[in-house]
Amino acid sequence: MNPSKLIGGLALALVATAAAAQYPTKPVTIVVPFAAGGPTDTVARSVGQAMEKSLGANVIIENKPGAGGTIAIADIARSPADGYRVLVHHIGMATAPSLYRKLPFDPLKDLDYVGLINDVPMTLLVRSTLPVNNVKELAAYAKQNKDKTTLANAGIGAASHLCGLLFQQAIETDLTTVPYKGTAPAITDLIGGQVDILCDQTTNTTEQIKAGKVKALALTAPKRLDSLKDLPTSAEAGLPGFELSIWHGMYAPKNTPKPVLDKLVAALQVALKDPALNKRFADLGATTVTPDRQTPDALGKHLKSEIDKWAPIIKKAGIYAD
Ligand code: ASP
Repeated sequence: MNPSKLIGGLALALVATAAAAQYPTKPVTIVVPFAAGGPTDTVARSVGQAMEKSLGANVIIENKPGAGGTIAIADIARSPADGYRVLVHHIGMATAPSLYRKLPFDPLKDLDYVGLINDVPMTLLVRSTLPVNNVKELAAYAKQNKDKTTLANAGIGAASHLCGLLFQQAIETDLTTVPYKGTAPAITDLIGGQVDILCDQTTNTTEQIKAGKVKALALTAPKRLDSLKDLPTSAEAGLPGFELSIWHGMYAPKNTPKPVLDKLVAALQVALKDPALNKRFADLGATTVTPDRQTPDALGKHLKSEIDKWAPIIKKAGIYAD
């Protein structure tokens, strides 16, 4: 090799190592794949804020919605692997490979994993003026009014899309879906009566349910939540198989230098011990994952098992996006 090229390469490697050792020297951006004010945004903002102190840098949130969250994943897969741009995403990371015929990334090859964050159940909601008061009445209404009953979601690949898919399967009725850039705008339209049904994480719906702005019919979990004691589980409401738990994880671009990734992992783990963060999550029906799941390895394993779990279910449903 040309000696001056070799020296140039070594100098670059030294600069990169020094930069990694000093990380972070500027704010860190967390990319959120959905609109501001929604449940993924809430989780990312809460975690980001709780990471700032141990990270020693400000954390900025950037909402990059579109295509059910896949635009943001592609953005992170292409971003410089320097720890200044990371992603918080949910179960959609595992369902996207089955839902999209073409994806500009592979979740198992193009990302580094920081760790799992929390698990959140979903709630089946209807607009307050819809003439139904329980799941049985909703199923009957939807069957009778199939062509005019609308189901909101945050695009193909969103948790709300998956939940809506499972609901339609459970009641054996296809509804008209209305996609949004996130469930923050979707719930605004549900409250306004522009759409009929929305299935969304408790992190976005708890306050609206408590304020009586929407009717909640079921929780997609096997056990009732302390934060929503009166809400029946899906089994209690008559749809035993209609269960879905949404998990969130943090990702970095592939080949992030180890010292940088280690700092992100440590800061996430410190954040997940923060009592204020845990209280906020609990108040919103979310459960922080146990410490053994707050690791890169646990996120990688969970992601792989969720990809394998959802592939046959999505294939059977015959849903694809281009
Ligand atoms: N929770 C939403 C979904 O995946 C997205 C969002 O955070 O707005 O359906």
